[in-house]
Amino acid sequence: MDKYPVGVFASIGAGLGVRLEVVKELGIHSVQLCCPHKEMRTQENARDFIAKLNDIGATISVVFCDFKGESYATIQKTRETIGLVPKETRAERKQEIREIADFAKTLGCSRIGIHIGFIPHETDSDDYRDLVGSLQELADYLAAQDQAFHLETGQETADGLERFLSDVGRENVFINFDPANMILYGSGEPLPALKKLGKWVRSCHCKDAKWSAEPGKEWGAEVPFGTGDVNAKEFFKTLKEVGYEGPLTIEREIPAEPERQKAEISQAKDLIEGLKREIFGVE
Ligand code: MG
Repeated sequence: MDKYPVGVFASIGAGLGVRLEVVKELGIHSVQLCCPHKEMRTQENARDFIAKLNDIGATISVVFCDFKGESYATIQKTRETIGLVPKETRAERKQEIREIADFAKTLGCSRIGIHIGFIPHETDSDDYRDLVGSLQELADYLAAQDQAFHLETGQETADGLERFLSDVGRENVFINFDPANMILYGSGEPLPALKKLGKWVRSCHCKDAKWSAEPGKEWGAEVPFGTGDVNAKEFFKTLKEVGYEGPLTIEREIPAEPERQKAEISQAKDLIEGLKREIFGVE
């Protein structure tokens, strides 16, 4: 695979990300797929989706978990509903992750992305131990089918995530680094975090944001890539410094405004292509 392909977060059916038609129109050939819900994960849909991807010459770099009942409406809602952390849904979501991994395998994708949620900070608590054990169990399930887990950054500080990854201790658990999320959630300056976590980073999101007045309490604001507090150029320099060579996947989550979303993704693509030449020395 070429180094540093420009990618975009995409979906089939419901879910975050742009439609494949838009991927085609934008001339992008790498997608991260927001995994469709259970009823859509049929063999027939998989075949149909693969045919569409082949038609536009695109490949899937990561299949992302998306669970019913999740809400990013506020930081508090995120805390209560996202990923594997909420105890009430942990068992059923663990089972669903296995099913998503199987569906990804059908699609020929070996990487599963997930927001696991706000990891408890009491590392000697039963809850923390159960979460570590859950990740180990799932990582082993993925390893048996040559797949890896990519945990998305956002809810944790770099130190918190480093500790968690060390406790999980599995060789197929990596990071999907989203610099904007560190700002949106108020969990630390993204570029020092990237330097610290670089050895685990195997995929990333080109997304941007502005800090809120009360980081960690109120959301920051998501803005088009290159216009926020991430500093796109320094972000790419840091990716280079940590030896990253994977896809540069644009994420712009404004599904209610599809035309604006498409225009801003197109602008992000132009910006990334310029920075690729300048910083990575590749077309
Ligand atoms: Mg992201």
